[in-house]
Amino acid sequence: MEIKYFEFLKYLIRFNRQVYLDHNATTPVSDHVRKKMEKALKDQYGNPSSFYGIGRKSAELVEQARKHVAQAIQADPSEVIFTACATESNNAVLKSVSTHFYPKKKKIVSTPIEHPSVMNTLAYLETQGVIVEYCPVDDKGRIRLAELEKQVDDDTFLVCCMAANNETGVIQDLKAVTNIARQHGALVLTDCVQALGKIPIDLHAWDVDYASFSAHKLYGPKGIGALYMKQGSPFTPFLHGGHQESGLRAGTESLHNIVGFGAACQEVDKLLAHGKQIRALKRQLTQRLKKIKPDCVINSPEIEAESLPNTLSITFPGVENAGLMGMLDYRGIAVSAGSACSTGEDTPSHVLKAIGLSDSAARETIRISLGHDTAARDIQYMTQVVRDYIEGRISFVDMLAPAQLNENILFDEKTYILDVRPPDDRKKFRGLPNAHEVRSLHVEQYLKQLPRDKRILVYCPGGGLSVMISYYLKAKGFKRVTNLRGGLDGWRKRRSDLYEKYAGQNVTVLEPDKIN
Ligand code: PLP
Repeated sequence: MEIKYFEFLKYLIRFNRQVYLDHNATTPVSDHVRKKMEKALKDQYGNPSSFYGIGRKSAELVEQARKHVAQAIQADPSEVIFTACATESNNAVLKSVSTHFYPKKKKIVSTPIEHPSVMNTLAYLETQGVIVEYCPVDDKGRIRLAELEKQVDDDTFLVCCMAANNETGVIQDLKAVTNIARQHGALVLTDCVQALGKIPIDLHAWDVDYASFSAHKLYGPKGIGALYMKQGSPFTPFLHGGHQESGLRAGTESLHNIVGFGAACQEVDKLLAHGKQIRALKRQLTQRLKKIKPDCVINSPEIEAESLPNTLSITFPGVENAGLMGMLDYRGIAVSAGSACSTGEDTPSHVLKAIGLSDSAARETIRISLGHDTAARDIQYMTQVVRDYIEGRISFVDMLAPAQLNENILFDEKTYILDVRPPDDRKKFRGLPNAHEVRSLHVEQYLKQLPRDKRILVYCPGGGLSVMISYYLKAKGFKRVTNLRGGLDGWRKRRSDLYEKYAGQNVTVLEPDKIN
């Protein structure tokens, strides 16, 4: 008989109910956007650089989209160029402005809560000699303007401060930031990725020089960004090649994506108008969660004008986010963690650390970001699952902290170690001793040989996939399942002594169950 392939994969997407509460990560494409994109894909294959009719039509669509983007951000279309993503926009500005000024001026002042596309680019620029200073923020992520005044000086060529933060939703006082920068002749870059569609944007009024945007955060397609550049601002192209985007960004335009971005921007006023309802839902959500766990800590500013209407960062003392998220995911609810544990790193979020959370508080934090499809019943359902979980009414997977994984557990006869790492991680790192390796996305093929009378300790590189597999095993009737929080990565860091001594010993590669 044929093996039931993909059962676990189906399980991953099987949920009875899908509640998506991670709109700051990305948003679904709206119907309006999809229709416009489909039409462009179907009918408009002409290269916008070609001179004949269908090429000219494509070029017209690019310019129409540029107008829509410009309108949404209160800018002139000549100030907008399309890029592949906001990551590119941020990279392009930071590197090009540094090339322009350095070494005549040496300093960039930024904040410690920027997106990795800024943080990692700044770290790179430091290796090239640029001096980067990070202005401290308060416990809600608001930039400390008095400190900024002290840090920005005549050696500063750029101040880089995001309009709104993706994790806490804090909105910065950009006009005040620009005023300080101007006193010393510094330019200003602002990352507006999370702001567009959530709060009104007026780049001319904010008086910034550069701003970055991304379509997929406002119900547009992924893989298309924009860069606003005030007329006359210095800029060296990031990509060299053809003359597209007035010679500032080479490469044949991604027409359907550009059309999608323009269409998404046409809906910005509608999104802003709907913001009030979203904020009301967020209020409801906050109140319910406070009732469930009165000692919870709200990391987003509670003054509404200072926080995005859809974003709530909340810490539940004593409740590990990995377990809570695993349970929410099991119930079809998508939220994100304050820490990047699910991506293979066991490091708490730099944003949460910058606003003063300890490592353990950061690991007890989740971010909930509502969207235009979020309904009151979604909030009820989500908070019900959180209540059941926190009050211990649903059986859940045990979590083992990496530091607790000692020899007693590694060599315990009653513990069965299950390695669900992908092959490339196995090539890079030796795994836990006494582990049993399976193909992670096909766990269903090994169920018959997994012992039901032992505790199963599941681990992956970062602790994210293993949570899902742990819940799957629970659903399959395995009574004692434990997930290694932080995964092998966490254990290698916390217990490097044990890793050096035992990693890779006595590993068994399991063959799929024989089905007869
Ligand atoms: N900046 C912020 C604040 C973001 O939230 C994101 C996306 O997560 C980005 C930049 C990067 O955008 P993109 O996915 O278009 O590269």
